[in-house]
Amino acid sequence: MSVIPAPMGLIAELTHRCPLQCAYCSNPLEMVAPREELTTAQWLRVIDEAADIGILQLHLTGGEPMARPDLPKIVAHAAARGLYTNLITSGVLLTDAAMADLLTTGIDHIQLSFQGAEASAADSMGGYKGGHARKLDAARRIREAGLTLTTNFVIHRRNIADLPAMLAMGENLGSDRIEIAHTQYYGWALKNRAALLPTREQLERATTQVEAARERLMGRVVIDYVVPDYYAERPKACMGGWGRLFIHLLPSGKALPCHAAETIPGISFASVRDTSLAEVWQNDPAFNRFRATGWMPEPCKSCDRREIDWGGCRCQALALLGDASATDPVCDRSPDHPIMAELVAQSSDSALALVPRRLRGG
Ligand code: SF4
Ligand code: SF4
Repeated sequence: MSVIPAPMGLIAELTHRCPLQCAYCSNPLEMVAPREELTTAQWLRVIDEAADIGILQLHLTGGEPMARPDLPKIVAHAAARGLYTNLITSGVLLTDAAMADLLTTGIDHIQLSFQGAEASAADSMGGYKGGHARKLDAARRIREAGLTLTTNFVIHRRNIADLPAMLAMGENLGSDRIEIAHTQYYGWALKNRAALLPTREQLERATTQVEAARERLMGRVVIDYVVPDYYAERPKACMGGWGRLFIHLLPSGKALPCHAAETIPGISFASVRDTSLAEVWQNDPAFNRFRATGWMPEPCKSCDRREIDWGGCRCQALALLGDASATDPVCDRSPDHPIMAELVAQSSDSALALVPRRLRGG
């Protein structure tokens, strides 16, 4: 059997613990309990294995990765092994002392997420009073440390009107990059979809505002824009293709081709507790299940875009059609595409209550 080229990145969900409770969180409804998390020694061993097989980047995420007291040790080990280290954080735990600790590790980049531009609405979405102010302090600390800063804003029906204020805030904080990401409907976000999905008019206005800001800030700030699948005609190349660029590790050590893959029934996923990363990448049947193009049904099988979007997202095909091996219904070449308009029509209730993300689905 041919050797699969090494993945580019390892996405490490260090923990599902998080002080915040965003209803748009893409973590699974059934999260990993703290007692099931990998130990420090296990994470360090996994990082060694990642470096050994040629992985270049380590993305540390969660939950809130800063809830792990051993985070500096993990970052330092990765940096010493030559991995590019990217911390994805809500910032509420990024105190002066935590920043000082991180700076000793050789960390490369921090991505700081905001729930909005306005403190009370942002704190309400996060379920954390004073959280927004703490994030502003965290942004200042990152800039003062001379690190590259990416600010991330997840937008949805309830905060999309504040997009111009978010863009201004990202600029004023000195961001090198601003990511405006429409909610991706997995996990808690899928549960809350009806209350979060924007209208087409909201989406079009937001897109115009992002394009104007890109023009205004060209050469100074990069703006990434992640659009919502539900209004698209072509699917995203989810994870750059199943088993092609990334390994995603749950806090328990389970290795997935994408963060929501565990929702797919009938596939069991190996754990790095007892299987090496190299073995997972090369031989795990779960990673080979939707790899490349051999699994594809029509219309993907004979489509000219099959090695561009890789048939879209398997977890979305499962969530929306009940069949992970179907063409992603976001694609207008899929016979199931009309379901997207139906889902949009059903998701138009601004008055619906949000279900906050809680550990163990509580
Ligand atoms: S989206 Fe919110 S609740 Fe989910 S991990 Fe990030 S900060 Fe925590
Ligand atoms: S038919 Fe399949 S490969 Fe072609 S554009 Fe649609 S999802 Fe992509």
